[in-house]
Amino acid sequence: MTPKESADIILKDIWGNRGFPVDPVWIAKKMGIRIIETKLPSEVSGALIKDKGSDPVIIISKTDSINRKRFSCAHELGHYLKRVENEEESYQYVDLRNNDSASGTNDEEVFANQFAACLLMPKEDITRLYKERVPSFMLAQKFSVSDDAIRFRLKNIKLSKI
Ligand SMILES: [Zn+2]
Repeated sequence: MTPKESADIILKDIWGNRGFPVDPVWIAKKMGIRIIETKLPSEVSGALIKDKGSDPVIIISKTDSINRKRFSCAHELGHYLKRVENEEESYQYVDLRNNDSASGTNDEEVFANQFAACLLMPKEDITRLYKERVPSFMLAQKFSVSDDAIRFRLKNIKLSKI
């Protein structure tokens, strides 16, 4: 499945008609994932851990901004979906800041980032509001994402990538 297909299924089946902003923590909990907010080493942005026989856990940095935490949680959810797809029983995935995710060289990171963007900023809604000339800072507010995230999303949608 593409990141958009995965995000659309979760939005439809789990989030339902709860509107915006989408809450990735709420969604993760509904999916049986524990969320832990804790102090992480400065180079770590988040992690996904599962021991055999235990619930999966998403770890996010408690010192990050609210928007950053939301994106990290959605990103880890993307990694989780990949693990489920591969039917893995135990795993440990640690995300570093400034890793190769931004440069788009690691397929798994690209998936997780695109999934997070599609989950928090669904294409159809962004496109509709953009056509209604809602300014990007208001879009950032409505979807509770950073200004950079909304700009990047608009750029990608205009290039009809995801
Ligand atoms: Zn990642």
